Amino acid sequence: MSSTPIIRFGPAGIPIQCEGGTLEGVNCCAELGLRAMEMEFVQGVRMKEEQAIEVGKTAKELDISLSSHAPYFINFCSVEEKKIGLSKHNLFAAAQATHWAGGRITVFHPGFYQKLSKEEAYKIAKGHLVELHEKIKAHGIKVVLGAETVGKPSQFGGFEEVVRLSEELGFIEPVLDFSHLHARRDFNIRDESEYVEIFKQLESRLGDYVQHFHSHFSEINYTAKGERNHLPLGSNNEPPFKPLIKVLSENGYSGTIICESPKLEYDALLMQKEYLMRKR
Ligand SMILES: [Zn+2]
Repeated sequence: MSSTPIIRFGPAGIPIQCEGGTLEGVNCCAELGLRAMEMEFVQGVRMKEEQAIEVGKTAKELDISLSSHAPYFINFCSVEEKKIGLSKHNLFAAAQATHWAGGRITVFHPGFYQKLSKEEAYKIAKGHLVELHEKIKAHGIKVVLGAETVGKPSQFGGFEEVVRLSEELGFIEPVLDFSHLHARRDFNIRDESEYVEIFKQLESRLGDYVQHFHSHFSEINYTAKGERNHLPLGSNNEPPFKPLIKVLSENGYSGTIICESPKLEYDALLMQKEYLMRKR
């Protein structure tokens, strides 16, 4: 028996209108009627075990599903040993804190091609991720590593690459940042058809991933070099959110949408409203 499809919506970090830290953020999300929150460790992981456990306990009681975003200082394609060490350290620390908090997935930006060919970059990153996972496993950490589709063509982490990593490494799942997919031109998301195509590909290659996908949403300002900055919903409609909600509802997909627009929880609520209206 399959369960009722559900999409959880939440902000990337503590809601703007909420004062305090992560714990207050979780409480605030629950009060607003949101069902998810991503903990932003982007400038470094400072959350201690005791605090993470407390946050996790509250999130569980309030039915807020937690995820995290690892530090930006990660490049698994680097040829410098020091940078690889730092990348592993940062992603490990984020996964550890997420595990303490009972979160399911830690999102990370995989790296940069620099002078490498795409295939070289892929092989190098894959090797380091396998090594890192050994350590994560040895520590009993059961958190999925979420390879995000990143916003610039110079960054390693296109749709094809993150889906392939997930196909080849069971501990990795893609994190779909729709605005990035649009900005790096992996997809030209103008209407329903592109969302249908994205989910069709995910379903055929990763099976039940479409029943627990993790994603980021905002609109985006971009140039030929890719992403410039994230925009609130209704700014330029690139990509548009309503067709996404329609495709998700009509196909019964389940997962999480973390809102990364500058309006965080306000736009998360806007998307959730659209979703609930369609579900009725
Ligand atoms: Zn990100």
